[in-house]
Amino acid sequence: MYAPFELEIPRDLAGALNALAAGKGSKTVPIAGGTNLIVDMRAKRERPDRIVGIGAVGELRGMEFTREGISIGGGTTVTDLLESPEIAVAAPSLVDSARLFAGLMVRNTATVAGNIACGSPAADLVPPLLSLDADVTLASVAGTRTLALDEYFLAYKRDVRRSDELITRISWPRLPEPSINTFYKLARRKGDAITVTGVALTLAASGGVCTRARIALGAVAPFVLRARKAEAVLEGRALTPELIDEAAAAATAVASPIDDVRASAEYRLHTVEALTRRLVSQAWDRLN
Ligand SMILES: Cc1cc2nc3c(=O)[nH]c(=O)nc-3n(C[C@H](O)[C@H](O)[C@H](O)COP(=O)(O)OP(=O)(O)OC[C@H]3O[C@@H](n4cnc5c(N)ncnc54)[C@H](O)[C@@H]3O)c2cc1C
Repeated sequence: MYAPFELEIPRDLAGALNALAAGKGSKTVPIAGGTNLIVDMRAKRERPDRIVGIGAVGELRGMEFTREGISIGGGTTVTDLLESPEIAVAAPSLVDSARLFAGLMVRNTATVAGNIACGSPAADLVPPLLSLDADVTLASVAGTRTLALDEYFLAYKRDVRRSDELITRISWPRLPEPSINTFYKLARRKGDAITVTGVALTLAASGGVCTRARIALGAVAPFVLRARKAEAVLEGRALTPELIDEAAAAATAVASPIDDVRASAEYRLHTVEALTRRLVSQAWDRLN
């Protein structure tokens, strides 16, 4: 069923990074939950020579909550997100996403880092993380670097991660008060379905003015991306239906969806506009 490969299962982060560094020159990949990689290997889209199992690496687990922000290990599972009362407060959009993510068995093993690293335009944890201004920390034997998740993706399934690097942590600041942070997954079923259109939003207000807008779009472009022009339409303004329409149009303009078995490009464009308008309107009403 699979082409032969070597398997290494390090017990700690240093061991995992050494194993990845030693794999230079061969196709060496990490495996976390395996819910993408195994499927891709079965379909022969991926043929690694060496696999480094990182599921037992304790440093990749754990969540830290401070007054300033939140930091979670790359190995945090979707179930971990759902079971954390702190995440429910600090990242409502992530919980919205996790609730509709796959089914129970997949949620128990699927990791946040695996969702980012797979590079799918329909990766459901990525729009919420973009709406939260998340950073990712990458580690290798040469050291660590932290960058904005917004700078991580380069093109369809292409990103800035070197093959000897692991995503070790994902961090984001506390949401401003008051604010709304939400994610809407439009799919053909309520569960176990690939996203047709995903929109994540953070909207904050003070003194009747929108002080922060973050809009991230999933499944409607080669990779998950922010609708920056739409955000700029809203920030610094007292929102009106006309401004919200303008922002929804700007979000649609940044989308470049494809036709596939789940939906046409035309339908996806229509739903980006409708969902952006609806989420911003509802958030603005709640904030005021
Ligand atoms: C039945 C089913 C339903 C699904 N439903 C959804 C869904 O609703 N929404 C959704 O977004 N996805 C869904 N998926 C896809 C998948 O579950 C997610 O993308 C998941 O988050 C992948 O995480 P993982 O730990 O299983 O990754 P793996 O399969 O272990 O790895 C995926 C990729 O990430 C790399 N990787 C893993 N960990 C790291 C790390 N720490 N650093 C760097 N690279 C790393 C691997 O090398 C590989 O290239 C589904 C999959 C299945 C099989």
